[in-house]
Amino acid sequence: MNPLGMLAELTHRCPLGCPYCSNPLALEDRADEMDTATWVRVFQQAADMGVLQVHLSGGEPASRRDLIELTRAASEAGLYTNLITSAIGIDSDRLQRLKAAGLDHVQVSIQDTDPALSDHIADYNGAHARKLALAEAVTGLGMALTVNAVIHRANIANLSGMVALAASLGAGRVEVAHVQYYGWALRNRDALMPTREQIDQAMQEMDALQARYAGRLVIDSVIPDYYARRPKPCMGGWGQKSLNVTPSGVVLPCHAAATIPGLTFWSVRERSLADIWANSPAFEAFRGTAWMKEPCQSCSLQTACFGGCRCQALAITGDAAAADPSCELSPYHGHMQELAQQASGGAYAYRGRKESTAAPAR
Ligand code: SF4
Ligand code: SF4
Repeated sequence: MNPLGMLAELTHRCPLGCPYCSNPLALEDRADEMDTATWVRVFQQAADMGVLQVHLSGGEPASRRDLIELTRAASEAGLYTNLITSAIGIDSDRLQRLKAAGLDHVQVSIQDTDPALSDHIADYNGAHARKLALAEAVTGLGMALTVNAVIHRANIANLSGMVALAASLGAGRVEVAHVQYYGWALRNRDALMPTREQIDQAMQEMDALQARYAGRLVIDSVIPDYYARRPKPCMGGWGQKSLNVTPSGVVLPCHAAATIPGLTFWSVRERSLADIWANSPAFEAFRGTAWMKEPCQSCSLQTACFGGCRCQALAITGDAAAADPSCELSPYHGHMQELAQQASGGAYAYRGRKESTAAPAR
């Protein structure tokens, strides 16, 4: 089975400092980033092995001066191109050139509807206004737009407002993306974690929102892991459907996989993408079901959820081969719920900054 999607982390550089960022705590340096020609080769290899869609991501992909060239190369290779951006660094002129280069789709993240709160969460003055401007420019050019509404303790009470904002911007889809606790988000878990009451309220609201916007706006939402009873099939299964390429060329089964000690990752600087997909020890480590322990080993759902997330299993249980503790059959499920209940807000450690800053309250 070949992958269908590839996340191309073009750079870890980003002008924002979102405390929920899933980039690793140790960000890759600009000096280690792959050059244009190497990325072009990777896009062609991806297309040759059957990848359909590339997500041009980061960090902030607009921080790459060659973003238009890279987009054109991916498009000419036959890949559907999705730009995942904070909007900083893409004015209407650059957007038009991206469209001319073959960009198919844009995904813009928003933090809230309130400009001051949004800018505080992103740690960037004026970010909110620029996000709205880019979203309007995208739909103004007739391009497909998805709004990524990143939900956490400080903004979950404004869920309906964020969905309404996405609709007013002309988005075809809004992803209600509850923070996933990897990288900087794991470090900020106490500050970001919603309460049980907030989650229950949001889930009720979601039903009403999906009914209200039916036929106009697709709203994607799943129960956040710390309050779930069963895990999601993380990445559609380890090494089953997609892969990530880091700025320096390391190929990962998921964006947080490098947190798992003992795995050997291969790089596109030394090997082809197809070779890495088929033979890399890191991809082989948790592919399929043979690696599973109990309770997954004898569970009838093992090819539905693939045991959930390996990185989350490691973060909570200390064992990457354990069942994802978001599963109520995991012996660590109660511990995970306690971690959520114990979270009491607190200060943000902004990505890339040493000092902490008070988290906002709505
Ligand atoms: S989550 Fe925020 S800080 Fe991280 S890459 Fe995206 S915009 Fe930048
Ligand atoms: S026991 Fe394992 S395979 Fe079964 S639902 Fe839970 S995580 Fe998935």
